[in-house]
Amino acid sequence: LSERFDSAWKKLRGQDKISEANIQEALRDVRRALLEADVNLQVVKAFVAEVQAQALGAEVVSGVNPGQQFIKIVNDELTKLMGETNAPLAKAETAPTVILMAGLQGTGKTTATAKLALHLRKESRSAMMVATDVYRPAAVDQLITLGKQIDIPVFDLGTDANPVEIARQGVAKAKEDGIDTVIVDTAGRLQIDPKMMAELAQIKEAVQPDEVLLVVDAMTGQEAANLTRSFHEEIGITGAILTKMDGDSRGGAALSVRQISGQPIKFIGVGEKVEALQPFYPDRMASRILGMGDVLTLVEKAQEAVDIADAEKLQEKILEAKFDFDDFLKQTRLMKNMGSLGGIMKMIPGMAGKISDDQLQQGETQLRRVEAMIKSMTKEERKNPELLSSSPSRRRRIARGSGYQDKDVSKLVSDFQKMRTMMQQMGSGQMGMPGMGGGF
Ligand code: GDP
Ligand code: MG
Repeated sequence: LSERFDSAWKKLRGQDKISEANIQEALRDVRRALLEADVNLQVVKAFVAEVQAQALGAEVVSGVNPGQQFIKIVNDELTKLMGETNAPLAKAETAPTVILMAGLQGTGKTTATAKLALHLRKESRSAMMVATDVYRPAAVDQLITLGKQIDIPVFDLGTDANPVEIARQGVAKAKEDGIDTVIVDTAGRLQIDPKMMAELAQIKEAVQPDEVLLVVDAMTGQEAANLTRSFHEEIGITGAILTKMDGDSRGGAALSVRQISGQPIKFIGVGEKVEALQPFYPDRMASRILGMGDVLTLVEKAQEAVDIADAEKLQEKILEAKFDFDDFLKQTRLMKNMGSLGGIMKMIPGMAGKISDDQLQQGETQLRRVEAMIKSMTKEERKNPELLSSSPSRRRRIARGSGYQDKDVSKLVSDFQKMRTMMQQMGSGQMGMPGMGGGF
């Protein structure tokens, strides 16, 4: 009842949907948070305007206000913008994979070169590092020392050779030695510099890298945007490493890099030690940049409650025997929201320990297949599963659309009918509520 009251009250005050008027304060908070996190001003403006336009009209879930709901949407969009999942390193079809490191001086290129080499070896990929920074007296030695420390070979020709030549020969040597991945460390300057760019471009031309990683210091702040633009326009990057994330920077540079280059952040550096490298996780970074963890938790809890309400509606439908493919899809999504199938199976009394990981995996694959097939159905077919029992041509169309075979669709349809019959029996009979722990 209080829930219904809440939604009626919201409607009265124009708070049931996100509108221009009801998120003014949240908008200000979000902008301030992003700027405080050192996201470039231009990037903030463009991003916030885009999210705002998208969010208008979105339903506000019970228990939160429009501003809070908006912040959650911002967080989701931030995560999406930064790539949703972790982007792995490139791997060339024929070894060696060549990685070119680029970035300003002092950002952590040389350190990151060693960190990457160590990371690769942990993935059973052999590595070699190439020292082309001939300008700073100690730079070559620095890489050699790191190489000794982690027992990874370093190729160098001292400080008198030409960097392009060193890179070329280094990659040739790696090929000869059957090395999996060769990482070319380069010289940086304190600022964007035409000579540095020209040399990088030449090295790139000479070694044809599979990956050009821009190394960006997380403390760079507003400048990260210009920096990325220059490197991306002049050299072309395929990804970035954000270093010094162990400091108190909120990491807004990540958003600038991503927004401007369109390329993913692949790793973050979290310390001076060679082990201090972590894969980049967009969701974690989004929350760190936004810095509004409390609001996010609140909205997530509220949303879970909505999912439960959904589940209850579903239960009613089952009892009334109106369960269709749409409901089925919703239910599988609900299961996904709640975690893996494995997690759910283990919550069912008596199930824990009875199912092997293999079986669980099969179950999850099966769910994905089913989802793909249902997505290829028309609205009408989803509402009326009977249409499919009687029409081979419909089933064929769905098979083609989803990339499965006719017999897979036929099986889905007949399984679904059986399930529905069973559900009806359970719903009306002595077997108790289906699917909620009892009745098995
Ligand atoms: P390069 O000039 O780009 O090659 O930068 P270096 O690799 O020589 O690193 C410059 C300084 O930053 C060194 O003192 C490193 O120890 C330090 N550094 C590099 N990465 C990180 C990191 O992720 N966290 C911290 N705290 N320091 C780092
Ligand atoms: Mg260096």
